[in-house]
Amino acid sequence: MPTDVLGTPLQFLKGVGPRRAADLEKIGLVTVEDLLCRFPIRYEDRGQFATIASLRPGQRASVQGEVLSAHVRPTRRPGFRIFEMLVRDPSGSIRAVFPNQTFLKDVFKPHQRVILYGAVEVRPGTGLQLASPDYEILSGEAGDAGEPADDHTIHTGRIVPVYEKAGTMTPKLQRMLVHQALQLVGPPGGDIDDPLPAALRRTLDVPDRRSAFEAAHFPPAGARLDELNAFRTPAQQRLIFEEFFLFQAGLLLKRRRQRADRKRRSIVIDDRVRDAARAVLPFKLTGDQKRAVKDIVDDMARPEPMNRLLQGDVGAGKTMVGLLAALVAMENGFQVAFMAPTEILADQHVLTIRRRLEASRFRVVSLTGSVPAKRRREILAELQAGSIHLVVGTHALAEDAVAFRELGLVIIDEQHRFGVVQRAALRGKGVNPDVLVMTATPIPRTLSMTLYGDLDVSVIREMPPGRVPVKTMAKAESRREEAYRVVRAAVDAGRQAYIIYPLVEESEKIDLRAATAMAEHLAAAVFPQYRVALLHGRLKPDQKDRVMASFAAGETDVLVSTSVVEVGVDVPNATVMIVEHAERFGLSQLHQLRGRVGRSGHESTCILLYQSPLTDSGKARLQALVETDDGFVIAERDLELRGPGDFFGTRQSGLPTFRVGDLARDAAIMEHARREASDWIATDAGVAELAGRLRHQWKARFGLAEVG
Ligand code: ADP
Ligand code: MG
Repeated sequence: MPTDVLGTPLQFLKGVGPRRAADLEKIGLVTVEDLLCRFPIRYEDRGQFATIASLRPGQRASVQGEVLSAHVRPTRRPGFRIFEMLVRDPSGSIRAVFPNQTFLKDVFKPHQRVILYGAVEVRPGTGLQLASPDYEILSGEAGDAGEPADDHTIHTGRIVPVYEKAGTMTPKLQRMLVHQALQLVGPPGGDIDDPLPAALRRTLDVPDRRSAFEAAHFPPAGARLDELNAFRTPAQQRLIFEEFFLFQAGLLLKRRRQRADRKRRSIVIDDRVRDAARAVLPFKLTGDQKRAVKDIVDDMARPEPMNRLLQGDVGAGKTMVGLLAALVAMENGFQVAFMAPTEILADQHVLTIRRRLEASRFRVVSLTGSVPAKRRREILAELQAGSIHLVVGTHALAEDAVAFRELGLVIIDEQHRFGVVQRAALRGKGVNPDVLVMTATPIPRTLSMTLYGDLDVSVIREMPPGRVPVKTMAKAESRREEAYRVVRAAVDAGRQAYIIYPLVEESEKIDLRAATAMAEHLAAAVFPQYRVALLHGRLKPDQKDRVMASFAAGETDVLVSTSVVEVGVDVPNATVMIVEHAERFGLSQLHQLRGRVGRSGHESTCILLYQSPLTDSGKARLQALVETDDGFVIAERDLELRGPGDFFGTRQSGLPTFRVGDLARDAAIMEHARREASDWIATDAGVAELAGRLRHQWKARFGLAEVG
């Protein structure tokens, strides 16, 4: 076994005292391994030396020369002094200035050979100078904090790693620390801890880990800058692969463990259950819906719990699939918990489900944060007694006080809005219940593999019949009147319309005021002949219900709303969607909004009003939406445009934190890692080799709670 030199606390490095160690810990750096896994954000070629005579203002350049003079110079500003030196090469000489860095007088001495890299500036009267360049001394005393030996430069004279500055961790400091750390862990090819199984390393023919760290931080002479900056060198790829491999192995192991769990009893599907299911169906299922129902029911009939993701674009008809699953569970004497992300949506599900189950003996209740205390107590008691069969609610369902007599199925709608913790909490209220997760945001494959790698997946791509694609256009807001004309035409034909205003947390109050004022203006001045209502998240629950119910019943013509209607709301008669300030929404969010219309056979229109001038990414978002209505294509574009962190537009997306890998950039590596991990986990020897490591590192490494 190699000694755990990678686990050495950073305090053992020269230049890291207790204060600095505390600073480093704040950015997540505790051990040598943490440091080595903090990759450069880019690389800069400082290996080409310019002759001093050729320097031009505005350029960044490396020069190599001899120090002629070095001194501290006062300025007119009291207390402000500048260290200044003159450096010469065979073509000429140039001044280098370092404001306020008087300590450099003890670093630089005449006759030293130095390399400088920095911006060339011109100062009136004094000519060209290098401003606070990075420097390296080729002869003379080595400095502190691990300055390299004479023939080995780290800040200049080579391809140099550039790190993100964070607190007191400057790019230069990290370079010095990484250089030291690499000395500490021993020579390339050395025996350091490596999470990749040895046999896999041989098969994949990857560089050894120690060499990979070296090459990723201090690329060898001749390395290609473009490959480095695309993170495509063998060294970088190997380290990214390693991280993804461990992650996928952990997910797959978890899945293996779950398969060993047993439900209280498996579900039985007989003619009675089939008849009950047929009785609630108001329409024929699409082929994809049928396949999804079959996947789900097959899972439910097994002794181990279901862990399945149902993916399908907005309007694909997931609710009915979920309802059928619920019915099967209830016919088998189990209770069902159905968790939705918003109260509006939970209430809507309750309405739909009650209507479908009217003729059945099952009791359906809604439990959200706004249920009054007394009613809530009654519901809790009935859930525990088992006299409520299906409870639909928000995250209030995950609270400790909620207990069931026999919870057999958990359905989670619009999954990515919930933290994994809530998912696990709800699951924990039954004995290994079946879990069905539904998401309406088509998710790029890489993200789905990452977020849901421990789940089986069913996908609904086919839309219910009779759908007419939504006509989408983007217009500058100066053309708002045209949008209003579309609304009038639709309402006069008996249809309904949404007008959506952005509401973001940072400016919630202002946004809300804008939406409220606009609703009043629309009602009074623009659409005086129509019934206009306002819906937003701050309304009291019963007000919200009234507004929603009135719109659903066709008693409101124009619904002005903030983005609360984004998720799931289903009013087929609404055919016009106007989005104000569309440039402020994310791509997937706009796609979700657009999904509120086009839910019937009537032609629907979505108009995205934007404020000029648009940013490039704003333009790209609106264009993508106009061009396609395929949610999966849109999801890929969104990931490209925004990066994985922002993809879901929410912090609690449950995405793990990767140190070296990047989900948008390294999708192909994730695919590869998943395949290899899957092969590895398929053998008992493979599991044995990884299980211990994963038990200790997986949770800490990827910042995830144990997912249920
Ligand atoms: P989502 O997948 O976004 O949750 P919904 O379940 O809300 O979609 O379904 C959207 C609309 O399509 C609803 O009005 C629903 O009743 C209807 N629908 C679903 N499946 C079918 C089907 N097979 N045939 C006709 N209409 C359907
Ligand atoms: Mg839905």
